Amino acid sequence: MKNLPYIVACTGGIGSGKSTISNIFSKFNINIVDSDAIAREVVKPKSHAFKKIIRRYGNSIISEQGMLLRSNLRQIIFQDNKERFWLNNILHPLINIKTKKLQESSKSPYILWVIPLLIENKLQYQADRILVVNVNEAIQLKRVHIRDNVPISQVEKIIAIQATASQRLFFADDIINNMGTIENTFLQVAKLHQFYLNLAKIKQDKYHE
Ligand code: ADP
Repeated sequence: MKNLPYIVACTGGIGSGKSTISNIFSKFNINIVDSDAIAREVVKPKSHAFKKIIRRYGNSIISEQGMLLRSNLRQIIFQDNKERFWLNNILHPLINIKTKKLQESSKSPYILWVIPLLIENKLQYQADRILVVNVNEAIQLKRVHIRDNVPISQVEKIIAIQATASQRLFFADDIINNMGTIENTFLQVAKLHQFYLNLAKIKQDKYHE
């Protein structure tokens, strides 16, 4: 098996600041493996999974542009465990393969694997280190309400089905407090970046021993 780079999993609730933080890491030339982008990619139009899903649920889950309406699909599987298992059985192996491929082909000393549902999907064991982005719920509600232009009540519903902050923090090796200014968050990332470079080097040295 190919030697995987050092993998830092970055997780946090909706609106905690994962995208903001991954943008900062990428400024330090760190490769980002984005699990949301991968989840969209495996169901892109004409893909094998896309066709299978449409065959099962019909055209009502295709948008006018021919894309999969992932929110409609989420509604179906939210109400029915059997359908959730069916869909996960198709998507999880594809997502895993694509994730591994991207991780293996990465050229940066370590990679940031942005994975909102790390804890919910019990994927902690796939990371060398777990970085949790933390904000309080009031900030989370306000930032998502503004970013997505959706009612606060809708954000509350999403938060309610995600892991709680304490469940996430239980698994955290490192925590970024993203309740302050972007400048403050930048400084926290810069410090962690140096730390991760060292950890990545230790892993590399061990591999070549
Ligand atoms: P996530 O990717 O975890 O859902 P985002 O990175 O998109 O969260 O952040 C949510 C919103 O909050 C975005 O509009 C982002 O610009 C804003 N934001 C993130 N961090 C800060 C911060 N430290 N101060 C002010 N706004 C922030």
